[in-house]
Amino acid sequence: MTTTLIANATMLVTMDAQRREIPDGGVLIRGQEIAWVGPTRDLPPALAQEVEQRLDARGKIVLPGLVNTHHHFYQTLTRVIPAAQDVVLFDWLKTLYPIWAELRPEDVQVSTQLALTELLLSGCTTSSDHHYLWPNGSRLDDQFQAAAEVGVRFHGARGSMSLGESQGGLPPDRVCEDEAAILRDCRRVVEEYHDPARFAMRRVVLAPCSPFSVTPELMRESAALARSFGPEMDVHLHTHLAETKDEEAFCLEQFGKRPAAYAEELHWVGDDVWHAHCVHLNGQEVADFARTQTGVAHCPSSNMRLASGIAPVRAMRDAGTPVGLGVDGSASNDSSHMLAEARQSLLLQRVTGNPAALTAREALEIATLGGAAVLGRDDIGALAPGMAADVIAFDLEALGYAGGAVHDPVAALLFCHPQNVDFALVNGRLLVQEGQPLTVDLPRLIERHNRAARELLVRAGVG
Ligand SMILES: [Zn+2]
Repeated sequence: MTTTLIANATMLVTMDAQRREIPDGGVLIRGQEIAWVGPTRDLPPALAQEVEQRLDARGKIVLPGLVNTHHHFYQTLTRVIPAAQDVVLFDWLKTLYPIWAELRPEDVQVSTQLALTELLLSGCTTSSDHHYLWPNGSRLDDQFQAAAEVGVRFHGARGSMSLGESQGGLPPDRVCEDEAAILRDCRRVVEEYHDPARFAMRRVVLAPCSPFSVTPELMRESAALARSFGPEMDVHLHTHLAETKDEEAFCLEQFGKRPAAYAEELHWVGDDVWHAHCVHLNGQEVADFARTQTGVAHCPSSNMRLASGIAPVRAMRDAGTPVGLGVDGSASNDSSHMLAEARQSLLLQRVTGNPAALTAREALEIATLGGAAVLGRDDIGALAPGMAADVIAFDLEALGYAGGAVHDPVAALLFCHPQNVDFALVNGRLLVQEGQPLTVDLPRLIERHNRAARELLVRAGVG
C-alpha cells in the first residue's frame, strides 16, 4: 500500500459537501483511499511522514475523476462511416447493424481498451459501457479483461437485443439473442464479476437495449433478475429511453404509451435504474423521474449529432431528477472525451435562450457527483477523506487555457477548449503521467485498433 501526496495544486476542486475549491491544494492518498484533503501547508506532520510518492501539482488544477454513464465502446471501430454521417437514429442503426454483426471477441477487447484509454486521457476514471450485441462468441468477459488491463473503474452493462425485424423490431434477426440465453448469461456475469463492495473496480448492470429492440417480457424479467440478487448486491438496470420522436411514435403504436409510461409499467423506475438520453420527457415525466429517483444519462453530443433534440436537463436539475453525463457510443459522437462532453452539456442547454441554463460548476457536478449517483456509488465523484482515490489534473498553463485560467481556473475547464489530463489516478494507482498513459502502449493500440476497424468493414462487405 503506497501513500501518495498530491501537493501544491494551483486549484483543488473537491466537489465535497461544501463544494470547496482550495488554492495550493493537497490530497493525501493511502492505498486506494483518500486520507486527507486541504491546503498543502496544513498537512499534519504525522501524515507528512507517511508520504512515499509525491506528485507536484503546481500550475495544475486537481479534481475528482469524471464519471461516464453511457457508452458503446465497440463503436470506436465504426466512427464516421460515410453512410451513417447524416441520418437520424433509426437509419443510422440500420446502416451499422450489419457491420456490428461481424464483431469478434478480439474487436470487443481492442475497442474496449481504446475507448477506455481515450476516456482516461480526457479525465474519466469510471465508465459504464452498454454492450448489446454479442456475435461470433464475444462476451462481457472480453470487456472486463480489457478494462482490467487499462485500469479504469468499469461498470459493464450486459446489453441485449431480442426483438428482430421479423418480430416487428428494428435490428436484423441475426444480431438478436434468445431471451432465455440472455437471462442465463446475465446471471452468469453477475455471479462472476459483480463486486458490490466499496471501491469496487467492476460491477455488472443488466441492460436490454431499447423499446424497439427487446420485448416487454425481457424488460420485466431483466428487472426481476437484477432485483432478485437483493439490496446488498445492488445490481442496477440501464437502457435507452425517450431518445427520439421515432421511438416515441414506436411506443405509442406498439404499446399505446409514451416511453416513460412504458418503462414505469415494466417496473423500470427507481434508484436502481438509469436511462440514456431522455430527450423527449415532458414536465410530468421529469417530475415522475424525480419522485422515483430514476436516473438519466445525458448525452449532448450524440443528441446533436443524430438531430435527436435537447434533453430538458435544466428542468431535471430543478425537479431533483438524478442526472449524469455520457459520451454515448463512439459512432454517434464521434469521440470519447468526457471533458468535451461536459462542455457540450453546458453549451446545449443554453441554445434555447437561457445564458445561465447550466453553469460551468453545474456541468462539472453532473460529470462527477451526478454520474456517481446515477451509477449508485457514494465512494466516487468527490475528493474527501474516505472516498476512492480517483484523481485527475489538468495543466492550467496549456495554450487553450491561456488568458482564461488566470481569471477562473474551474470555469476555464468548461468554457475553454477541452484538454487532456496531465496526470490521473484510479483507486490510488497512477495511470497517466505527464499526459502519457502508463498501462497502455498507445501507438501500438491505435495501430491494432485501426487494423481491426478496416478488417471489420471488409468482413461486412462494405470495406
Ligand atoms: Zn447509446
